[in-house]
Amino acid sequence: MRPSEKPAQQWHAKPADEVLGALESGPHGVDDAEAARRLEAHGPNRLPTGRRRTLLERFLLQFHNMLIYVLLAAAGVTALLGHWLDTAVILGVVVINAVIGVIQEGKAEKALDAIRDMLSPQATVLRGGRRESRPAEELVPGDVVVLQSGDKVPADLRLFKVRDLRVDEAMLTGESVPVEKATDAVAGESDLGERVGMAYSGTLVTYGSAQGVVVETAGATEIGRISRMLEEVESITTPLLRQIETFGRWLALAIVGLAAATFAFAYLARDYPLAEVFLAAVGLAVAAIPEGLPAIMTITLAIGVQRMAQRNAIIRRLPAVETLGSVTVICSDKTGTLTRNEMTVQSVVLADRQIDVSGVGYAPEGGLAENGEPVDPEDIPALAELFRVALLCNDATVKRDGEQWRMEGDPTEGALVTLAMKAGLDPATSHEELPRTDAIPFESEHRFMATLNHDHSGNALILLKGAPERVIEMCAEQQGSDGPMPIDRDYWEARMAEIADAGQRLLALAAKPGRSDQSALQFDDVNDGLVLLGLVGIIDPPRQEAIESVATCQQAGIRVKMITGDHGRTARAIGAALGIGDGERMVTGAEIEELDDEQLRDLVAQTDVFARASPEHKLRLVRALQASGEVVAMTGDGVNDAPALKRADVGVAMGMKGTEVSKEASAMVLADDNFASIARAVEEGRTVYDNLRKALLFLLPTNGGQAGVIVLAVLAGLMLPITPVQILWVNMVTAVTLGLALAFEPTEPGVMRRPPRPPSEPIITRFLLWRIGFVSTLLVIATTGMFLGYLAEGEEALARTLAVNTLVVCQAFYLVSARFVNTPAISSGLLRGNVWVPASIAGILVLQLAFTYAPPMQLLFDTRPLAASHWALMLMAGFLVFVVVELEKWIMMSRSRG
Ligand code: ATP
Repeated sequence: MRPSEKPAQQWHAKPADEVLGALESGPHGVDDAEAARRLEAHGPNRLPTGRRRTLLERFLLQFHNMLIYVLLAAAGVTALLGHWLDTAVILGVVVINAVIGVIQEGKAEKALDAIRDMLSPQATVLRGGRRESRPAEELVPGDVVVLQSGDKVPADLRLFKVRDLRVDEAMLTGESVPVEKATDAVAGESDLGERVGMAYSGTLVTYGSAQGVVVETAGATEIGRISRMLEEVESITTPLLRQIETFGRWLALAIVGLAAATFAFAYLARDYPLAEVFLAAVGLAVAAIPEGLPAIMTITLAIGVQRMAQRNAIIRRLPAVETLGSVTVICSDKTGTLTRNEMTVQSVVLADRQIDVSGVGYAPEGGLAENGEPVDPEDIPALAELFRVALLCNDATVKRDGEQWRMEGDPTEGALVTLAMKAGLDPATSHEELPRTDAIPFESEHRFMATLNHDHSGNALILLKGAPERVIEMCAEQQGSDGPMPIDRDYWEARMAEIADAGQRLLALAAKPGRSDQSALQFDDVNDGLVLLGLVGIIDPPRQEAIESVATCQQAGIRVKMITGDHGRTARAIGAALGIGDGERMVTGAEIEELDDEQLRDLVAQTDVFARASPEHKLRLVRALQASGEVVAMTGDGVNDAPALKRADVGVAMGMKGTEVSKEASAMVLADDNFASIARAVEEGRTVYDNLRKALLFLLPTNGGQAGVIVLAVLAGLMLPITPVQILWVNMVTAVTLGLALAFEPTEPGVMRRPPRPPSEPIITRFLLWRIGFVSTLLVIATTGMFLGYLAEGEEALARTLAVNTLVVCQAFYLVSARFVNTPAISSGLLRGNVWVPASIAGILVLQLAFTYAPPMQLLFDTRPLAASHWALMLMAGFLVFVVVELEKWIMMSRSRG
């Protein structure tokens, strides 16, 4: 029996203790050895993947394409006429094409799967009481999981410790309002939504924290039981590919129409025998159909996604690849994305003095000085008090690891630990003297963190740190050298402005005595009556590569806006260092709240720096930008960023510090949390689009040229310069060699100096149609010219062999030109920069030699051996095509410049 078929245990109806007992676990979880044993027995905590299409299904699906239907009809016609060889070759080509399609799609899918695996979630577990981060796949029943706001629940849990936990269970119950959780057991028959003591795998923690024991994993979880519903197969498609598919359908119709017209004309006006007319019409259909196109499009897209992953941008939703190419505004967080997130306290301000702190990074090496003179914190009680709050109202640790000092936790807090250590405090001793009883964790909404600590005589102390404007509101007094005194707000405002103007991040620290019987901390306890101890100024230098990337984006016509929770002046100064904003204009979240949507739209057009902004402001900003027609990429990491990330055209989550919730909501995840990776992804997005265009620009003229050759022959009453089977050969070999090479084209040098592509622009533009028509004409002239020239001299089969080879040689020359849509090939490197180009040219040469000289091929395609002089002539024709296309580019370019 499969695990998912076991009768469901009613874990929700049992008290938490009983569940822990039944699973032979406890509040500290199981140990590693036991976990390993259970993992062996239960298997990994992985949902059974949705059913994949079988090989046969995927193969058959390749035929489900209008263009292929036309080819199959053509095969039917030739069979009716008894031209078995043609039938066999047409069917052969269709089958080979399907095989190539299956292989390419398989490769593309594998690449995407590998990328999806890079995003496998982690879970925080207690193993023998130790807190560890583990891949969610390793969870076993009995493991104790620690949940925090922003987590995705990694397995079905029976909760035994809950603090304000709210869980979004929409994916299981359809209920969009997050459910409040508790530890209580409920009646056995209650619905999923009523089981407050359970947290189910796949649901999202939107608030609070909790601990729970894993009761079910993998397929046995609730989501596993219904996972048959999730068996959707995500297909490799994007709006652009759909656009091309639609184009393919119209093309097929046009081709059938053209073939019919040719048929009618040839039969009625030219008096061809019926069988031959049919063959000509079939030849035309075969000529005009770009069989290789779908496979090339898919592989181009997959290569783009892979390249992005190599550059730390992991695509979660395929359409983002294209959207990235048309992004006009990037809204970025500041901390960690634009800055290094390596925080160091540089200044400490008390009610009557300012202390400078030396040293960089998290190593507690450096000293304290006032006006250049060293100071001892022991001599300044207010300073010693501030350091104690800095250390205790804090969850970060700074530890020595060999030569290096390592910080774990929030970098802002890490900087405070280092500060306290520089002043001589020992974290372990301090925590022992004043152990923590309760805490209100930091959230960007309320911008402070507070803890309740007790000394060994039972005295309670409330310690608090947070954004200064917020903290000052809560304080009536400040700590002077002789004890608390009324707060002087003007003094603090002035100090804050000074520090923030230097680009430092600000934090205020405060404390107050608690009630002696107090054991829990509520928001009401910290609303007032605190004593302000002082401010600290923290530097977080901009990332060098971010400065460069901001400039690159601006050159590429993309505006970069910074949306940060930091102080306005800090934001403005950092913005100026990064080249964002004019160093003057800055708008705060509070100001945004004053505006209606229309006013906001005007404001965002002129402002690049937004400070003290919270997630709702982000959402409003995205909306305002989109209302003005911008295509917006927006970064985020917190739970509450999810709506803005979903709303943005490209939501970008942080891979390292981002919550699971934010990743779920995003189209792209940055593996390195770095702004520069967004800029690179935009560049790759533009490259993918370019390469799709190049593939069209290269392949369609082959078909246009061949179709033109046949139409011309019929109109002029000539025999066909290329037979249908030869046409199929040309289509096949050019698509799998030359055409595919374009999927690997590197980024063109000027890509980030162009403005973004309008999202509504169709991929087949007028320019593209013109270029396709123009090159098709050149190919018709070269091919037909060669055919007629040699036909006059003698043998028909020889003239055809020449015509086919001329077409292919011209194509090879044209490939070099098509690599660069608007820039001259000569100055852009000809064959350099993409090894697949020379390789594919060499490949097609071998194929053509076989086509021309190998006896079985001669039999199949009715070809004749050619002389060296023929090849020389063909090379000349090819070169001429190249020169003429380059000339056209030059004229088009100078016209668009003029
Ligand atoms: P971003 O630029 O990525 O939006 P941010 O770090 O600037 O992030 P928040 O994390 O929302 O924004 O921080 C806003 C303010 O809250 C900071 O300027 C600081 O004053 C205060 N703050 C930050 N971290 C903590 C913390 N752990 N405890 C107390 N206060 C904090």
